[in-house]
Amino acid sequence: MRKRLIAGNWKMNGSKPMVRELVSGVLGQLDQGRSAEVLLIPPFPYLPLVGSMTENTPVLLGGQDLSRQASGAFTGEVSGEMLAEWGCSHVLVGHSERRSLHGEDDALVAAKFQAAQAAGLQPILCVGETLEEREAGQTEAVVRRQVGAVIEAAGIAAFARAVVAYEPVWAIGTGQTATPEQAQAVHALIRAQIASEDATIAGRLQILYGGSVKPDNASDLFDREDIDGGLIGGASLTADSFMAIYKAA
Ligand code: PGA
Repeated sequence: MRKRLIAGNWKMNGSKPMVRELVSGVLGQLDQGRSAEVLLIPPFPYLPLVGSMTENTPVLLGGQDLSRQASGAFTGEVSGEMLAEWGCSHVLVGHSERRSLHGEDDALVAAKFQAAQAAGLQPILCVGETLEEREAGQTEAVVRRQVGAVIEAAGIAAFARAVVAYEPVWAIGTGQTATPEQAQAVHALIRAQIASEDATIAGRLQILYGGSVKPDNASDLFDREDIDGGLIGGASLTADSFMAIYKAA
């Protein structure tokens, strides 16, 4: 059975007081009886603070991005080793905001996926189509290409130590959520694509849904067979909404 994973992607939001309040609220509502995992993904400067607050708790820590390089003259970049040193277990790669605002293409995303694993981190590979692509009937082709580029570069075995997040770009931060049917259909496609290479790995792979997940739509999404949790943006910024989503898992 796959564990549920509820990940909060804070994006470029936060301040020290806000982080203290949010993390205290999350810890206060953790339920040790639940098997769902909680992963917090703050901006880089807050990793030490969140890490110290969540030490000796089941809450996991992740980075929002990493460099494809291990070290060197790459001003502004952060390596996988640095994230691991601060206690990260996971890192996002290929978030649509990185793809669209920072020109990250499939080849760079695949290189970052490999760099994450080389540092002992689990990459969370983010994939998803834009509205134009969906309306043009290209959803399957786009997602297959994005996943396929990583399979080709890293090999199928690498997916035993990775997570995939399906985030339709048109649903991110828009308040417009994919219906559970739309999301399930794409999750099933992704799992089938992995299964065509390795059925065991596909059966164990956590596939998260992201894009305007909120307390009131979370349980309908998480009820679907191939939806193993969520990657939450806006609703991860208050403990009450984030933990309501966690409780729906
Ligand atoms: P959202 O963001 O929940 O605010 O739509 C999700 C994401 O981009 O990871």
